[in-house]
Amino acid sequence: MDYDLFVIGGGSGGVRCARIAASHGAKVAIAEEQHWGGTCVNVGCVPKKLMVQAAEYAGWARDSHGFGWNTQPGKHDWAALMAAKDTEIRRLNGIYVKLLENAGVTWFFDRATFLDPHTLQVGDRTMTAERIVIAVGGHPSWPEIEGAEHGIVSDQAFSLPACPKRVTMVGGGYIGVEFAGIFHGLGAEVDLLYRQRSPLRGFDDDIREALVENLQEHGIRLHPSVLLHRLELMPDGSRRLHLTDGRQFDSDLVFFAVGRVPNTKELGLERAGVKLAANGAVAVNAQNVSSQPNIFAIGDVSNKMNLTPVAIAEGHHLADRLFGRTVRSWSMQAVPTAVFSMPPIGTCGLSEEQAAELGPVDVYLTRFLPMRHVITGRNQRTLMKLVVDQASQRVVGAHMMGDDAAEMMQAIGIAMTAGATKADFDRTIGIHPTSAEEWVTLRTRTRVAGVAAAAE
Ligand code: NDP
Repeated sequence: MDYDLFVIGGGSGGVRCARIAASHGAKVAIAEEQHWGGTCVNVGCVPKKLMVQAAEYAGWARDSHGFGWNTQPGKHDWAALMAAKDTEIRRLNGIYVKLLENAGVTWFFDRATFLDPHTLQVGDRTMTAERIVIAVGGHPSWPEIEGAEHGIVSDQAFSLPACPKRVTMVGGGYIGVEFAGIFHGLGAEVDLLYRQRSPLRGFDDDIREALVENLQEHGIRLHPSVLLHRLELMPDGSRRLHLTDGRQFDSDLVFFAVGRVPNTKELGLERAGVKLAANGAVAVNAQNVSSQPNIFAIGDVSNKMNLTPVAIAEGHHLADRLFGRTVRSWSMQAVPTAVFSMPPIGTCGLSEEQAAELGPVDVYLTRFLPMRHVITGRNQRTLMKLVVDQASQRVVGAHMMGDDAAEMMQAIGIAMTAGATKADFDRTIGIHPTSAEEWVTLRTRTRVAGVAAAAE
């Protein structure tokens, strides 16, 4: 065999897997056909977060007045933002290649496809490997509607020539909600269309309600319980949306954020004996092993929890397990995650609704206007919530919408991973004056949910 391990896909998970395997002494190669760092670095988390940060400044300029400044937002320079973002992405692309080289990994900037379970076609070369990891990620899906080609998906959102005047986001998931805030902050009129009664299905209901309030407060127009069924290109270049409830309106940009699908097409998986699950992902067991014992899949292509840090954890764990002496493992019980809406949402563990299905839970909830916004006059209340399993008193869910929610939730995730109880939160001294101290001063139970609630 040419290599002990060959990784297909140079995203966050694949690069981590290759580097760690090489550091354990394995002979490793990796192939990437498009951009080092994958979705996250190039058309996902990183440029998205930079655009969120850019969008925040308009609000901060207005906020400053309450503190005696007379800052004016001025005019946003879209080209300058895109240039700054591209510079940062190029820097990160370079870092990824450097990390691979420093680890002694051989890299190919080419497409790799399977010829058989141990043989790959990499560009115009053929090579063999004892073990192969599929880490090729996913791509945005397009809705099957007439005129869909007049819209865009997230891959195109990072290279628009200018900020459109009117944007319609289709889909109420992470991307729909995040880009609604981005375009609004950068000056566009924004409509958000989703087919549920509120966005972010699967999130805690109180968070979903707070999100709706905040989106409305910002002036984002919400269109719940509706679908787009036709998109029409108008002579002036605008797009006319035809909704299932009969309404029509025009927009300059229609952005589909209706989920992502794994990149499993044209990889030659059938030649390698790698089976797909019903949802089109590579089917793997808990150890990321596919139906072919020497072939593994990590990250979005296995469609488990499509988050960069999860892909990195899977890649690292797999490399340790295959080639290392000690195996680092991660807890997938309480995975903290954030939606970079405005303000952001941070969440960890179970929603109240999920927890209540398992048994009785105590719910602690607070809503307040943060000190800063008492002065700025911005009507942006913070929501913080703990869901506590009544029997064990362990905190099984933490949810927040408000400034710094993502930053706080990382630390709450540590406490929850360590199995902290409500009493542990209560005996922790707060930091005053912060919003974060509310996590340790939630003294009064708001309600009981689950089985006991029904009994009471
Ligand atoms: P999501 O799965 O989060 O949301 C998809 C949305 O589109 C849902 O509101 C869904 O509705 C709706 N939808 C699906 N199909 C259709 C359709 N045919 N017509 C109308 N609406 C439809 O996908 P995203 O594209 O927002 O993001 C993809 C994934 O990327 C996320 O799930 C997440 O794993 C990851 N991500 C993570 C981020 C983060 O960590 N901050 C940021 C961005 C992405 P319904 O609820 O009814 O199914």
